[in-house]
Amino acid sequence: MNIISKKALIVDANPISVQFLSQATEMLGMDTQVLSTLPESPEDWMPTLTPDVILVDTSGMGITTADYISQLDTNVDNHKIPIVVTSASAGDAEVKRVFDAAEVKSAPKPIELPPFLRMLNTLLGWNSGQRVPKRAPAIIVEDVNTTALIVQKLLDVLGVDSYICNTVAAFEEYVKVIYPEIISLDLYLPDGNGLDICKSIRSSRKLDELPIVIVSGNTEMDTVVECLRAGANDHISKPIIKEEFFARVSNVLKIRTLQKDLHDQQKQMERLAFTDPLTLLFNRTYMDMALQRELERTRRSKSPLGLLLIDLDFFKRVNDTHGHEVGDEVLREFGALLRTAIRSYDVPCRYGGEEFCVLLPGSTASNVVTVAERIRKACETRTFSSKALKQTISIGTSVYPELSRENALISDADKALYSAKQSGRNRTIVSLPK
Ligand code: GH3
Ligand code: MG
Ligand code: MG
Ligand code: MG
Repeated sequence: MNIISKKALIVDANPISVQFLSQATEMLGMDTQVLSTLPESPEDWMPTLTPDVILVDTSGMGITTADYISQLDTNVDNHKIPIVVTSASAGDAEVKRVFDAAEVKSAPKPIELPPFLRMLNTLLGWNSGQRVPKRAPAIIVEDVNTTALIVQKLLDVLGVDSYICNTVAAFEEYVKVIYPEIISLDLYLPDGNGLDICKSIRSSRKLDELPIVIVSGNTEMDTVVECLRAGANDHISKPIIKEEFFARVSNVLKIRTLQKDLHDQQKQMERLAFTDPLTLLFNRTYMDMALQRELERTRRSKSPLGLLLIDLDFFKRVNDTHGHEVGDEVLREFGALLRTAIRSYDVPCRYGGEEFCVLLPGSTASNVVTVAERIRKACETRTFSSKALKQTISIGTSVYPELSRENALISDADKALYSAKQSGRNRTIVSLPK
C-alpha cells in the first residue's frame, strides 16, 4: 500500500517533548517539522508547508495555546487542520472549553504512547493499527551507564523501548512529558534517592498507577521491605540475574495490562450507562448528573447556564403512518443533527421518547435563542429517513440566572415548550422571567 506521507507540525519548546513527539509522528511514517520558538509576526506562525496535524504546547513561548490557536488560520481546502493540544493542563474541563471545536483534541502530558498514536491515526483518517506499538516506552533511572544499558537490553527483549535518565532531575523532566509503561528505578542516585521518587509518584494523582520496579544492589531485607512500603511493585537485586529480571518484570507488566483492561471495561460500562442506545446521545441519567454539575460550576464561575427542551411535532403520526422503524430512523437522524448544531462542551441528551434536552454552559438568553433557532431551522429545511419525511420541532428555553431559578430550569423550559406547542408548533419560546 502506498500511503502519501503526511506532515506533522510540532509547536513545543521542551526538548524532551520534541524528541518524544517527533519519534511518535515518525513511527506513523509522518514528516515532522518543529517550531520551538515563535516568529515575531502571527502571519509567520504557520509554516510554509501545510501540515496535516498540529501538536501544540506553547508553554514558555510567551503566548497561551488558546491564543496561538485562535490566531492560526487552519482552514485548508474546505477542511480544518486538526490540532492536538499537549499542554499538561489540556485535560481540565475548563481548559477544554477554550477550544470550542471538534477538530481540537487534547492529549495532556505526560503522554502514554499507544493511545496517543491511536488518536493521531483516527484524526488522520487512518486505521493503521499495526503502526501502534503495544506498549509505551519505559523509563530507566540509573546513574551507572553500563547497568542502564543492560536494563535497556533486557527490556528490549520483553518488547519495551526505553529512555535512560542518569539523575533524579532528568527523570523529573521526562515524566512530565512521557507516561511510561514501567519505571526501572535505582536507589542511589547522584542527586537523590529512588525511594523518594517512588513516594512522590505514589502521591501524584497523574502517575499513581505507574508500575515501578526497583533495581538495586542493596538487598537487605529492611531495604526491600522499605521499597515495597514506598509503593514499588517489586525489587530486583544487582547484579541482575536475567531470568529473575524477566520473570519479575513480566509479572508487573501483566498486572499493568490487566489493570488497563479493567479501566477500559469500566469506562465502556460507564459509557453504556450514560448513553441512549438509539441516538447515542447522553441519556436522562447523565443529563440529571450533568445539570447538577453545571449548576455547581455556574454558581462558582458566575457564568450563565442555558437549557433547551425540544419536542418533535406530531411525531406519533410518523409511527402511525410509516411504522416504528422509520420513527426510529427519524429520531436517530435528529440526534445526529442536534450533535452537529452545538458546541463541543454543550451537553445533548435524549430526555425520553421524542423529547431532547441540551445544556448550554456559558450561554445567555440571547445565545440560547440563537442556538435553538439554528437547530429548529436546520430541522425544518431538511428531510429525514429513507422516506424523506419533513419534521418540525418545538423548543422551550430557560436560562439561569437571567430568567429562571436554578431548580426551575427544566420546569420553566417545559412550560415554554408547552406554549410553543399551544401557539402552533415549529417555534422557540423563551421562558418568562422568574
Ligand atoms: P406533539 O406535537 O404534541 O408533541 O405530538 P406528538 O405526536 O409528537 O406527541 P405524542 O406525545 O402524542 O407522541 C409521541 C410519540 O413518540 C408517541 C410514541 O410512540 C413516539 N415515540 C416515543 N419514543 C419512541 C421511540 O423510541 N421510537 C419511536 N419510533 N417512536 C417513539
Ligand atoms: Mg546508583
Ligand atoms: Mg412529547
Ligand atoms: Mg411530540
